[in-house]
Amino acid sequence: MGKRQKEWARKERVRLIELLGGVCVDCGATDRLEFDHREPRTWVNKHHDPSSRMSKIRAEIARGIIELRCPDCNKRKGKPKGTPRPPGPDVDAPF
Ligand SMILES: [Zn+2]
Repeated sequence: MGKRQKEWARKERVRLIELLGGVCVDCGATDRLEFDHREPRTWVNKHHDPSSRMSKIRAEIARGIIELRCPDCNKRKGKPKGTPRPPGPDVDAPF
């Protein structure tokens, strides 16, 4: 996996964020956006190189199962990555 592929993945990530509107769906932030997967990622633990990871994310965007969120909103949701959401309200759960 060469440097060129990493560079491509970086640009692709920026492009996909723009494609999704470029803002956090919860608070409208435009910084440090992350792809929030609404389905558990079965492929996340495999060792994908950055470019095939971006291809997977692009496919998920096409299926409409990715939203943009900033890290703060992601954290607030408290959703463990790669596992299904627990039933019931998942906002502001008291811990
Ligand atoms: Zn946010």
